[in-house]
Amino acid sequence: MQYHAFVIKYAEIGVKGKNRYIFEDALVKQIKRVLSKCDGSFNISKVAGRIYVEASDFDFNETVDSLKTVFGITGICPAVTIARNEDGQLPDVDGVAKAVIDFIDGVYPDKNKTFKVKVRRVDKSYPIDSMEMAAELGGRILDAFKEMKVDVHEPEILLNVELREKLNIFSEVIPGPGGMPIGTAGKAMLLLSGGIDSPVAGYMVAKRGVDIEAVYFNAPPYTSEKAKQKVVDLAKVISKYTGKVRLHVINFTDIQMYIYEKCPHDELTIIMRRYMMRIADMLAGNTGCMGLITGESIGQVASQTMQSLMCTGEVVTDIPVYRPLIAFDKQDIVDISVKIDAYDTSILPYEDCCTIFVAKHPVTKPRADIIRKHEENLFEKIDELVKTAIETDEIIEV
Ligand code: ATP
Ligand code: MG
Repeated sequence: MQYHAFVIKYAEIGVKGKNRYIFEDALVKQIKRVLSKCDGSFNISKVAGRIYVEASDFDFNETVDSLKTVFGITGICPAVTIARNEDGQLPDVDGVAKAVIDFIDGVYPDKNKTFKVKVRRVDKSYPIDSMEMAAELGGRILDAFKEMKVDVHEPEILLNVELREKLNIFSEVIPGPGGMPIGTAGKAMLLLSGGIDSPVAGYMVAKRGVDIEAVYFNAPPYTSEKAKQKVVDLAKVISKYTGKVRLHVINFTDIQMYIYEKCPHDELTIIMRRYMMRIADMLAGNTGCMGLITGESIGQVASQTMQSLMCTGEVVTDIPVYRPLIAFDKQDIVDISVKIDAYDTSILPYEDCCTIFVAKHPVTKPRADIIRKHEENLFEKIDELVKTAIETDEIIEV
């Protein structure tokens, strides 16, 4: 079967009035973005509350895989569409029946299947109504293919026939990712480490339509070029869904060494995490980001107890910190990581700046007042070190 179009389904609830155009225009833009990287030529159109992708010389699997990365799409329906004739008429009943029979013949080599015809007559001027049309087409299909049987409750083939601005025929609905199209929300700064959690956190927030900018704190020469490349690769995974991601690589070595020198070692991780948050907050301010995103989850490690989360969170005061994984179990996070193709990269065994100076017994119940007190040991040089770190920010467009 040579499909030549896709009917794109998206959740329409909550997308009414003016917002609907913003949503649809963003969706079309994102579809164009992903298809521009695919072989073939594509025409994307928005007609009367439907988005169509017409395709020629294309690779079916590549095209579908790309559409599956567009947030906002709930269903991808490989379709045959037939335009109106010069007089603006849809095909008559015989014409529709022929198209439907050709469709089944092409898509289902094995006819030993149950089916149901579902007709949607959006064009009310069409001379026969949906029920009559469905009955008529059902009869014609039974005549054409003796092995086929009707099952109105659990059909193997649900044949959708739409009489709209075009005649659309489709039976398969390939699930899309859902969510909201990128570009409908605003931008947030993702703290992206090389681990499993933060790429998943970025993916989840992006899925609500949020553009992603990212920051990675590295500590050369204690962390390697490979560890950095791993983070670049993870940013690439996210960019498949979001389009270009700007990744800030912040050299954290001097800050880390200074904390190591001046503060109790069991508080090292927590103080480091506070400086990461502070710097990310400043970068967010400089780049128009409206929130920070982290991969934190309650109780996962010592730095993520509720006490630790309080301590790291309190340094960010003007914008929200989004922690989409806060109540997730590790396995649930891993499942998403695998699904979005981040997992194989995330588990590569390169050192992380947090693990290098990590204490044997880090505090698990830090008290913010004590931490603040110990941070006073840093006052002499820390502002200068933070300033330098931000000034030497290496920006990589991924
Ligand atoms: P992940 O799997 O995302 O690395 P983790 O389980 O290792 O998380 P932590 O090391 O406590 O957890 O880090 C918590 C969060 O802080 C991370 O999810 C990430 O958002 C941020 N973070 C930690 N280290 C870095 C880093 N080197 N650069 C940027 N962000 C970081
Ligand atoms: Mg980590």
